[in-house]
Amino acid sequence: MKLYEYQAKQVFASYGLPVPRGKAAETEDEVEAIAREIGGRVVIKAQVHVGGRGKAGGVKLADSPAAAREIGRQMVGMSLKGFLVKQVLVEQALPIEKEYYLSFTLDRDSQHIIGICSAMGGVDIEEVAASHPDKIVRMPVDIAFGPLDFQIRDFVGSACLDATRSREIGTIIKKLYEVYVSTDASLVEINPLVVTADGQVIAADAKFDVDDNAMFRQKALAVYADASEEDELEAEAHRRGLTYVHLGGDIGMIGNGAGLCMNTLDIINQAGGKPANFLDIGGGARADVVRNALDMVLLDPAVRAILINIFGGITRGDEVARGILEATATLDVRVPIIVRMAGTEAEAGLKLLDGSKLIPSAAAPEGARKAVELARKAA
Ligand code: GDP
Ligand code: MN
Repeated sequence: MKLYEYQAKQVFASYGLPVPRGKAAETEDEVEAIAREIGGRVVIKAQVHVGGRGKAGGVKLADSPAAAREIGRQMVGMSLKGFLVKQVLVEQALPIEKEYYLSFTLDRDSQHIIGICSAMGGVDIEEVAASHPDKIVRMPVDIAFGPLDFQIRDFVGSACLDATRSREIGTIIKKLYEVYVSTDASLVEINPLVVTADGQVIAADAKFDVDDNAMFRQKALAVYADASEEDELEAEAHRRGLTYVHLGGDIGMIGNGAGLCMNTLDIINQAGGKPANFLDIGGGARADVVRNALDMVLLDPAVRAILINIFGGITRGDEVARGILEATATLDVRVPIIVRMAGTEAEAGLKLLDGSKLIPSAAAPEGARKAVELARKAA
């Protein structure tokens, strides 16, 4: 789950991280009122899950509440890098002197949480990594101890961050690590971490991704869950408890097991098609789950054919076949459904499909070719 910047800053602030004063707004009236409340110069920032808003016109300064209102009028409802701006964050503008980069994430190679920092903040870290790889400093953290003081001193020193502010920066690093660990985050990022003209160190931007699999124990973050969904279909799938990713193509895909599903997506691509979605019904999927899944895939109006790829292990072919038959009997199915089955009770499953409109397929590549061909005919 991704949090919007304003939400991420609320969480950061609750852990004692310094963030600018500000509030989210949905209308120009609200923007003006918040700007008046803050007083002086404000910055207005589009709240979308995409980086580089600054360059794309999603971060603007205003010197008066009236100017803020005008920017709010233009920004709310605009499309920024393909994302609709529904909310903006109105914040006190900072007299920025220096911009740093700071983050924590999981490094799978070294099997550590790592801190990353750079004195070249404010720009995309990927750009810095490409042009000045030596300016990026990494700090592997032992999960048993957290970042130790000497490590943090070394980290901040190697990155050449402001030595006169090293105490404040060190505190921020510790708190950001605490956020990362306590919230089951997969990424916490501050870019830029700003040093102001009057010597304060403040998180001017915030990025925060939480592991979806930890949501059951991150009750405090649940309030952000619904608001964070950008994609209507994914939001619906989430409510239905399905593992679904919307991919934008026209071949619907249902499989059992993440590996098989990803493989099926590859096979659809190889057959010249574009998958509409990823949907993993998991192991041991029963008829009602299959029904729910099929119904979900059919909600996507772009879907022109569906490929169901089942490898029976714990999942039984006959169970799945019953689910498909049940679903197709009660749902309004306008598209061809190709079913490939192998493994436990696959033969029994395919036999059950005899005489139905479902199209059996012996192998996945052949099934994918059929799906692509039928989708093209329907287009
Ligand atoms: P991003 O482009 O989506 O990462 O949005 P940021 O919040 O990082 O803003 C982009 C840039 O706007 C920053 O790197 C700053 O250089 C610039 N900026 C200028 N004044 C301000 C200010 O008062 N606050 C913030 N947050 N950014 C400012
Ligand atoms: Mn940024």
